[in-house]
Amino acid sequence: MRRNQVSFIVLQLIILIAAALPSQAQSPNASGISFTVSMPQPWTHLLEVEMRLQIPANLNVPNETDLVMPVWTPGSYLIREFERNVQDFSADANGRALDWTKINKDIWRVKTSGARQWRATYRVYANELSVRTNELNADHAFWNNAALLMYPDGRLNAPSTLRVVPPSGWKVATGLPPVAGQPNTFRAENFDTLYDSPFEVSNFKEIKFEVRGVPHRIVIDGEGNYDPQRMKDDVQKIVEAEVSMFGVIPYHDYTFILHLRANTGGGLEHLNSTALGFRRFNFATEAGWRSFYGLVAHEFFHLWNVKRIRPDALGPFDYTKENYTRNLWVAEGITDYYGSLMVRRAGLTSDRDYLDALARRIQNFQNTPGRLEMSAEDASFNSWIKEYRPDENSVNSQISYYDKGELLGLLLDLEIRQRTKNAKSLDDVMRYLYHEFFEKSRNYSPADFQKACELMAGASLEDFFAQYVRGLK
Ligand SMILES: [Zn+2]
Repeated sequence: MRRNQVSFIVLQLIILIAAALPSQAQSPNASGISFTVSMPQPWTHLLEVEMRLQIPANLNVPNETDLVMPVWTPGSYLIREFERNVQDFSADANGRALDWTKINKDIWRVKTSGARQWRATYRVYANELSVRTNELNADHAFWNNAALLMYPDGRLNAPSTLRVVPPSGWKVATGLPPVAGQPNTFRAENFDTLYDSPFEVSNFKEIKFEVRGVPHRIVIDGEGNYDPQRMKDDVQKIVEAEVSMFGVIPYHDYTFILHLRANTGGGLEHLNSTALGFRRFNFATEAGWRSFYGLVAHEFFHLWNVKRIRPDALGPFDYTKENYTRNLWVAEGITDYYGSLMVRRAGLTSDRDYLDALARRIQNFQNTPGRLEMSAEDASFNSWIKEYRPDENSVNSQISYYDKGELLGLLLDLEIRQRTKNAKSLDDVMRYLYHEFFEKSRNYSPADFQKACELMAGASLEDFFAQYVRGLK
């Protein structure tokens, strides 16, 4: 009897486990959200998206589902209305068309009427190359998932997979981990990670190196007058300088996506990748190379400062509206400070060149009348209506949190070093924030940042923050 009883319990357990796992058995991920991005006619600039949804057996099947298109992408603090590029939307369940309607500018409401498996398809016009938008043409495809993929409302924490169908001869590069055994298919643990991972699909060049055994690669689309060996050696030096400051490499691999064009610029940071735009012929001079190093060092530093050391409002994200923070002067300005400093620490510029460039930036800031009108915190908070929308009055009424933030980084570093006889520095503040906030899954507030600086300085810095950060000095 005992044996039979045991067998019966085992049988019951098997039935229970089998009942709990049907969606995992049938779908590549537990949530049953899978995207396919294809580009059968690149010259039309239309990226084609198929989104398949399978409701897990343990969830109720809703009668309708809202699909939401993000209106902005983290790292670029402006409402960009990505939904305006969506066209040809439709939805069906096993070939049966589903009714849908738009309920506002960025939400498509689909009447799923109890379907446990259904799909939505749409196309996205992609003809703007910047680090935060999408471009598809006969030469290549580049996109940001926040500007391409919708999420089911309320399911931002759900994992998903993304399969890319490239034209023949094109390769796929992204920071997302691949799904084993499925070509050009990648997985994201949640939508924040999915939206954090841009894609380059083309016949790109690749430069690879390792730092502390961790693979890094530079994926290059476009021609330019760079020396590949120098690019490899020098980018590696920047990575090593920044890794040695933090002492940890918090990613499995890292991808620099570099677009070389006649007239482009800028970068956007991600958890284990970055998208960079740089002028293809700017490698002719040392000043051009220094400008490239500065861009690389800034974006790479972000993998700690902003992607992991996160300001209060920046993650998890709300993709439907502005996410306000007073800390962008830390997230961007201090990243700018370290961007320049790391190029010096990597041995890629001289003290003289470093100080000359710093002096020019101090002079430019002092010559901006807006510094007497707007504080670093206000510049951060108002980014959504100011930083990316300059007009003829901007120089008089506002400052950039990049410019003042960099100088505040310098002043704080000097203040802490001076008060501690060089025993502590801003480096210690950044390491402290990484361990005390990122590693404990916390975001930091303006008060937290001030406290971290005071901890390293061993004294109150209230006057400094009141005058220089919240005030107009
Ligand atoms: Zn930045």
